[in-house]
Amino acid sequence: MEENGRIVVIGGGPAGMMAAIKAAENGAEVVLLEKNHLCGRKLAITGKGRCNITNTKPWGEFATHVHPKNNFVKSAFFNFSNAATIDYFNSIGLETVETQGNRIFPKSMRAFDVVDALVGRMKQVGVKLVTDADLIAVCTDGSQFKCTYNDLSSPRLIRTEVIMAKALIVATGGLSYPATGSNGKGYYFASSLGHSITRCFPSLTALMPRSYVSGLYDVELKNVGLNLFVDHDLVQSEMGDLTFTEDGIEGSLGFRVSRKAVNALENGSSVELVIDLKPAVPISELKERVRNEVASFKWDVPVINEARMKKVLRRFMPAEMVDPFYETSKGLTVNTLADRMKDWRFPIARHAGYRRAVVTAGGVSLDEVVSKTMQSRLVKGLFFAGEILDLDGDTGGYNLQMAFSTGALAGQSAARYVSAVS
Ligand SMILES: Cc1cc2nc3c(=O)[nH]c(=O)nc-3n(C[C@H](O)[C@H](O)[C@H](O)COP(=O)(O)OP(=O)(O)OC[C@H]3O[C@@H](n4cnc5c(N)ncnc54)[C@H](O)[C@@H]3O)c2cc1C
Repeated sequence: MEENGRIVVIGGGPAGMMAAIKAAENGAEVVLLEKNHLCGRKLAITGKGRCNITNTKPWGEFATHVHPKNNFVKSAFFNFSNAATIDYFNSIGLETVETQGNRIFPKSMRAFDVVDALVGRMKQVGVKLVTDADLIAVCTDGSQFKCTYNDLSSPRLIRTEVIMAKALIVATGGLSYPATGSNGKGYYFASSLGHSITRCFPSLTALMPRSYVSGLYDVELKNVGLNLFVDHDLVQSEMGDLTFTEDGIEGSLGFRVSRKAVNALENGSSVELVIDLKPAVPISELKERVRNEVASFKWDVPVINEARMKKVLRRFMPAEMVDPFYETSKGLTVNTLADRMKDWRFPIARHAGYRRAVVTAGGVSLDEVVSKTMQSRLVKGLFFAGEILDLDGDTGGYNLQMAFSTGALAGQSAARYVSAVS
């Protein structure tokens, strides 16, 4: 089979689907190749299955959650902003709600509904969707792209197909959660077309302490402080909620420090997380409270053994935390308890990697992409969108908004490009 698709989009994630829709809405003939049997496998598991579509913070605040160069996204954001994204989803039949922290979710709280809305819209505007299509190579003669892909639709026979394109949008995602389809192959396509790829590393991933106790698994801490030390220097301080899991320290607070922590671990630096269980209480007041609680037991012998210490701990923390806190606080005494609660130390051994990373930091170098169009500076007719770019955001809807904004801009620009060259 050989076709002359005007614009070929590689990748049916949020960036690719939005790019395809916007290109088709602007009059282009669009073919989208997705290697999975269905589009949006990662999108369907976002936000714990609820999909935090975007965040309503104004650009000034939004930008502080975008790394490493937020200025690059500015044009894409203003072209298709968070407000425009919400309006767009509402206009295609997906109602949305705003929750704590300016986060927008589908009203149904079902990520699948977001996938369905985008797939439905692609069909409505005439995007030709080719699933089970795993792109394996791409090249260009300067006027069009030859995309070679394996057709995986038949389990018995893999057929190799070719499709030609006047413009190509690469939206293959990064390396995180590879089981959803994003295995980093897009970087190979980009570099085979001459692009540089900056160093990639997992971000928003769990951090595994050196000595960790299984009693902490599934313990959630609300409104605690978290300090990140790299080579013994304090580099980041955050407040919020944190979760201990089998993979280590994560949750929104753990994720917030993970970018710097992973980067430091990969550079061979020492990384330590220090939790403040009582960030709102000054140390002098906490010491006083410990003394008062101990006195309230009216023990006639002043010896504080393990059993008594755990009774004291119970006054300061939820029951499920008492044993693991005691176990990880060697040599705990009444005199050191307040200090330990404000300074609970976890030297970090490693991170959980791409398997558990919400997002990939690094990617196609932003220096080689025009921020106003998402077009390559090196190859005419080549566009990029989404996580494949050297862009990543914090948790809170920033990553999907970047996928939608860069996708929309890439789609519109590619449509303009093909109409100009045709
Ligand atoms: C568990 C989890 C929860 C998340 N929750 C949120 C959230 O609530 N809010 C938020 O803002 N962000 C969230 N994110 C991040 C967000 O999902 C990603 O940043 C976003 O999906 C990136 O979109 P993308 O389209 O660039 O890439 P992807 O979503 O990774 O899509 C890329 C697509 O390209 C396809 N592909 C790859 N290679 C090929 C090939 N060779 N041929 C054909 N197709 C190919 C893949 O199969 C995939 O479908 C979450 C991520 C994870 C892992």
